[in-house]
Amino acid sequence: MKISHIEHIGIAVPDLEKAIAYYETVLGLKCYKKEVVEDQKVTTAFIKVGDTKIELLEATSPESTIAKFIEKNGGRGGMHHIAFAVEDGVANALAEAEEKGVKLIDKAPRGGADGLHIAFLHPKSTEAVLTELCEDPNK
Ligand code: ZN
Repeated sequence: MKISHIEHIGIAVPDLEKAIAYYETVLGLKCYKKEVVEDQKVTTAFIKVGDTKIELLEATSPESTIAKFIEKNGGRGGMHHIAFAVEDGVANALAEAEEKGVKLIDKAPRGGADGLHIAFLHPKSTEAVLTELCEDPNK
């Protein structure tokens, strides 16, 4: 697969507004978009940092993987995943990863936040870091 850059870093937060306030008032960054992603049961907020982004994730339901992550982490948020932009398509990257014995969470690309096509690789196969592959279909 051909990775061009870190598309975003996903950070789970128990309180989205409090987290946004930190990034804006302390780090001087700007949240440019908030979006509910129904199938992942999260509200996301995006903050641009150069060519990459921070994706803040707040659970909208106790069944959300983000709610479970925070619960496991003693009620605190923390780094949740790293997302790489692939240039030759998420479907190709998934096929290649599977061929190399990587456990996949998503067998096929699906719609993610911010208009991206995304898929997750299982942390059991990625040195313990949940890894997202993504592509912008409009690029
Ligand atoms: Zn993400």
